[in-house]
Amino acid sequence: MLALSALSLLPDADAIGFLLPVDQGGAMGHRGFTHSLVFALAIGLACGTVLRKRGFLRTSALAGAVVASHGLLDTLTNGTTGTMLLWPFSGERFFAPWRPVPVPPVGLGLASARGLEVMAIEAVYFLPLLAWALWPRKRAA
Ligand SMILES: [Zn+2]
Repeated sequence: MLALSALSLLPDADAIGFLLPVDQGGAMGHRGFTHSLVFALAIGLACGTVLRKRGFLRTSALAGAVVASHGLLDTLTNGTTGTMLLWPFSGERFFAPWRPVPVPPVGLGLASARGLEVMAIEAVYFLPLLAWALWPRKRAA
């Protein structure tokens, strides 16, 4: 669960572009190609290949879904930049029609009062999923 949680953050590795001369409106910019479904598919296949002993199809599907969920969930935010879900087929940036998730401050700003407020809001949104994930189950024999 921790590895998949970490993998879900992979698309935001594009934030390194804020420190480089990158066109933020292009595919290399924030919420560009790393937030696309094709990127999620590629990462899923890579994970399935590397971890094939755990089942190629199962691992690929799970890792791909985790990475794809990031871009899809970002469309629900009230940020100023949509996500390039359909890259490389389209450079259009998408937002969902309903955007209830606030965008947290970046970097050290995450530790600010506003950052903590946003994390609390997100925790409430995802509390049902967290409870489901952590709910005790019988282990398979
Ligand atoms: Zn993102």
